[in-house]
Amino acid sequence: MKNDFVIKDRGRKLLRFLKGNQLDALVLIGVPSLRYFCGFTGSDGALLVCADKVVFLTDSRYTSQAQQEVMADKIVQHRGKMEGIAQLLDEWAARSIGFDAEAFSYAAFDELRSKSVPECRWQPLRREFKALRGVKDDAEIAIMRQAARIAAEAFYEIRPQIRPGAVERDLALALEFAMRRRGAEEKSFPFIVASGERGALPHGVASDRRLRDGELVTFDFGARWQGYCSDETVTLALGTVSRRLRDVYDTVHQAQQRAFETIKPGVPLRDIDQAARSHIGEQGFGEYFGHGLGHGVGLEVHEFPVVSPRSEDVAQTGMVFTVEPGIYIPGLGGVRLEDTVRVTENGYERLTSICKEYSSAIV
Ligand code: ZN
Ligand code: ZN
Repeated sequence: MKNDFVIKDRGRKLLRFLKGNQLDALVLIGVPSLRYFCGFTGSDGALLVCADKVVFLTDSRYTSQAQQEVMADKIVQHRGKMEGIAQLLDEWAARSIGFDAEAFSYAAFDELRSKSVPECRWQPLRREFKALRGVKDDAEIAIMRQAARIAAEAFYEIRPQIRPGAVERDLALALEFAMRRRGAEEKSFPFIVASGERGALPHGVASDRRLRDGELVTFDFGARWQGYCSDETVTLALGTVSRRLRDVYDTVHQAQQRAFETIKPGVPLRDIDQAARSHIGEQGFGEYFGHGLGHGVGLEVHEFPVVSPRSEDVAQTGMVFTVEPGIYIPGLGGVRLEDTVRVTENGYERLTSICKEYSSAIV
């Protein structure tokens, strides 16, 4: 068993959460939660926690893997997952039960409820629960830095192929192959490769379009390594672009710098969003920046916290999130620049490393 100490510490977070929310038990089934709180790397299982016990439930496919990986007081093999969970909760006489709301489908929850005693009160766990993974420890940061390094090296490898005539989809595929060859478990999400006027689609996944001289192309990509995701976006210029596109690029770049400068512990995340958003607005592009500035990254590519005008959280040392302002002008194109940063005691540190200066973006 590895990381016993770290996992034990995370188990204590769950216990504090349980007590703080006056719950008798917690039921976790989300893959990232299982990996984080008990070390299980498989794709199906359940972790049940009460005040004095942690039990991992799994089926015959995963029993031996769980015995090697999982930190729990007991590993139980079930025949039906929801039935197994309900039975254990009943043995514990748990009545007030928190569950991993985003991981349960409605059907799964309905089944669990129907197999449980009617006195059970179910409390969906949302933001406060996800916040338990919001501050990353040193081991997680080291992994995330490596995930970002794999993605960047893969990008540098395929960069010579990014030229007029290349097909977006071929570039996305080449990038994925280059990451996998470097040890990435998988891509952390479907890559965005959006060239020319497609750049106006914030989530334009790679298409059959061919790149052309004089336009911009945006790559949003990431690698998964040891379960953790990287997330980074670059926009490149194919030769000389129009004055307007160049203005768009500079505005996004400056907006990202403004946001970086505001990051430090104690700052409301909405203020970091605002630093970038107000700059884009002042330059006259406000209506073309519709999404939030960033999101947490970790075992999931989008996780706690949200960095947007509606954020309710405050930056804390060890939080990891993206800073990704963008401008998307229909019919013209767009620019997004994204880095993943860690909040440090004095400011921030970039975990992604590709240079976003315009001079580095010219192909
Ligand atoms: Zn991204
Ligand atoms: Zn992102």
